Amino acid sequence: MPRSSQLVHPPRQSTSALAQRAGWLGGKEARYLAHEAPFGELALTCPDGQMLHHLDWVTDQPVLLLKNVQRLTAPNPGVMTGPGTNSYLVGDPDTGYAAIDPGPADLEHLDRLWRAAGGNIRHIICTHSHPDHSPGAAPLQALCEQHGHKPPILGLASHATARAHSAFTPDRELTHGERLVLASHGLPSDITHTLRVVHTPGHAANHLCLVLEEDGLLFSGDHVLNGSTTVIDPPDGNMNDYLSSLDALIAACEQDQINFIFPAHGYVLGNVWGEPHDARACISHLKAHRLKREAKILKVMQQHPEGSMDDWVSHAYDDVPPRLWPVAMRSLLAHVERIRSLTS
Ligand SMILES: [Zn+2]
Repeated sequence: MPRSSQLVHPPRQSTSALAQRAGWLGGKEARYLAHEAPFGELALTCPDGQMLHHLDWVTDQPVLLLKNVQRLTAPNPGVMTGPGTNSYLVGDPDTGYAAIDPGPADLEHLDRLWRAAGGNIRHIICTHSHPDHSPGAAPLQALCEQHGHKPPILGLASHATARAHSAFTPDRELTHGERLVLASHGLPSDITHTLRVVHTPGHAANHLCLVLEEDGLLFSGDHVLNGSTTVIDPPDGNMNDYLSSLDALIAACEQDQINFIFPAHGYVLGNVWGEPHDARACISHLKAHRLKREAKILKVMQQHPEGSMDDWVSHAYDDVPPRLWPVAMRSLLAHVERIRSLTS
């Protein structure tokens, strides 16, 4: 199957030579090194180093990231959601579109998403059922139905461990490894867009990621974020599962030579396959970062065996602003559970 030409045949010299990349932010030129958050998005959208891409977050219109991938960010920025939830549309006018993570039930956002797809949404997929991701699914489906067709809501059902606001039942459950194919039936071109499901419990028990096989891209939901850290909130969140799922994503990166990651919050991550900070490198870095944190937590637990969780969070997250400690406390608990499971 054809991959996007710009990804398969990258201009080798320019991609290797471009140690920094430039885009527009607030009307000014902004330059970034490979380890900085916007680099991947610029490597994707401007492979030859052109100054074309605007990095300002907008919610009133979609951003065309590739000819077959659009991002529409919901107007729900916040501590937990960063610039807002990224809803993605995969497809083209001939194949129709898959909508990934409709976001909150914000009717204006859903109307913009529907319009960006030319009203031709074939699948509504939720990476997981947290309130900033899945409540838009039913109203988006209703909007499609008003115009004559009803795309299924796809994903994984929430587990009993999920909080009440995350209860979710899809029209049909996706299975690990399943492929959803968008195809231009009956047209001379044989363009397809194939999304492969990777079950990735850890952030939520019903979390999944999607590989866009033809383009070597990964839609990572909240499992891999750019600019913020994924919260692991037990019991629906589980640190052992989270780390195992990172391994599954690294394997998927290798299988499909994945270049770029499209997270549910933040800019595109990654680089052309094989270059520094490509998708596999980003995920490996993330796993190393988690294990480093865990080593720090273990040390704090050993130094303060009688300490409370409040004591431990202040030591183990002393590099994090105290206002974030209530959130960090959830991930701390997840690490403590994992440490105890490994040492018992
Ligand atoms: Zn989220």
